[in-house]
Amino acid sequence: MTTEATIFATDAELLSAIEPTTGGRTINDPATGEPVGRAPEHTVPDLEVAVAAARAAQPAWAALGHGARSAALNNAADAIEANAEALAVLLSREQGKPLNGPNARFEVGACAAWLRATAGFGLEPEVLVDEEGGRAEIHYRPLGVVGAIGPWNWPMMISVWQLAPALRMGNTVVLKPSEYTPLSVLALAHIINSALPQDVLHVVSGGRDVGEALSSHPSIDKIMFTGSTATGKAIIRSSADTVKRVTLELGGNDAGIVLPDADPKALAMDLFWGAFINTGQTCAALKRLYVHEDIYDSVCEALVEVAGQMPMGVGLDENNVLGPLQNKAQFDIVSELVRQAKDAGARILLGGNPDAGQPGFFYPTTLVADIDNDNPLVAQEQFGPALPIIKYSSVEDAIEMANGLEVGLGASVWSSSTDAAREVAARIQAGTVWINKHGAVDPRVPFGGAKQSGYGLEFGTEGLKHLGQPQVISY
Ligand code: NAD
Repeated sequence: MTTEATIFATDAELLSAIEPTTGGRTINDPATGEPVGRAPEHTVPDLEVAVAAARAAQPAWAALGHGARSAALNNAADAIEANAEALAVLLSREQGKPLNGPNARFEVGACAAWLRATAGFGLEPEVLVDEEGGRAEIHYRPLGVVGAIGPWNWPMMISVWQLAPALRMGNTVVLKPSEYTPLSVLALAHIINSALPQDVLHVVSGGRDVGEALSSHPSIDKIMFTGSTATGKAIIRSSADTVKRVTLELGGNDAGIVLPDADPKALAMDLFWGAFINTGQTCAALKRLYVHEDIYDSVCEALVEVAGQMPMGVGLDENNVLGPLQNKAQFDIVSELVRQAKDAGARILLGGNPDAGQPGFFYPTTLVADIDNDNPLVAQEQFGPALPIIKYSSVEDAIEMANGLEVGLGASVWSSSTDAAREVAARIQAGTVWINKHGAVDPRVPFGGAKQSGYGLEFGTEGLKHLGQPQVISY
């Protein structure tokens, strides 16, 4: 643990602190195809070393107590802020997201904000019974070693969502980043580690085999997983033999319902960012928009006007607010889903036609109207910059369509009347329903999925409790 964080003036300096001295896997910029840096290729034996070290470090970390651990998280936030620009540039080059807009600089800022908020929550033992005949209290003890497995869309922020409450509760952490974005997470952890005792936080930069070994490891007490529903199910299976605690933040396909009294022009900007934040590569982004027939044309028009003004391009260009898809597989998924929508006769209002001559995985901002609810672009999680807009005539039908899928992460209702929106919100099967906004997360407000979007909660005091072992003391 150091008191003064090293300051890296550039992303190149930061990279030189995390790249292996020889070898490693080259990671390319999804906007240009140019190499960004080399990531170590850790293996299952490397994981064993990391887990053993994290296990050995855990009792002393737990013994520090909440006050000292919170101070360490605040110091980690200071270190991130001191290195914010180098982190944001590296994130932009590896993930593709632009520096500006709700993108790379925003994500680095959120990492510091979440660490500070997580350091600040109180978690006193709760007194459940206190009467003449007895007393019962509930305490939250450390679990031990937490394994964290993350995706490639918000690699730094989601790592902090997993590690901050785990560390705060007295656990040590072994984190496995996505194989698409290991450099961002290694760099972030390098900075955070300047504020932590040795071996409290490890990053193992490996593939799926390392993720599998982590989720079945007998010395791992809990898995924090954020990623696809398919991988979440695999993790449930591989964690079963050791009865591990598991928090699953899985895929979604969030619906938004625009009620007939909504004002299309007033809502268009928030609808746009609700759907296209991080170029649509966001778990709780608006992915199916249901609009009442009375205002369908004006909502489509207002969205086309806003979307048409948003520059997309290489992340390091300060003008851009939308970037490429992060990888070829995701580009292919979005391309194929839009092609199927076109083949089925849906109307392309904007985009839908990627420039084959352009380097990078750029898919243009795409708005699709007059599309059936069972079209694959609506029914599957497209996870990209393509929004299907479905017309409805009765609110009952809209609610039924919104609830018609196996997933239920977020949802939104858009209306001039909060009361009317609240009534609809209460009937939607999703972990969060926003009114006149979509995807706005807050470190104080619990977040988690309904149905096959996962289980367990992150953020706030509820999130801390999910990283502790509840223990009742009764006398
Ligand atoms: P993914 O499931 O393909 O991979 C996520 C991580 O799991 C990677 O680190 C990967 O190496 C690892 N992994 C793969 N197979 C594994 C296995 N069998 N055992 C253990 N680990 C394994 O997901 P992705 O493509 O990186 O991310 C996109 C998905 O994540 C989308 O579905 C999105 O909705 C979801 N997501 C959800 C949230 C949320 O909070 N609910 C947030 C962000 C992303």
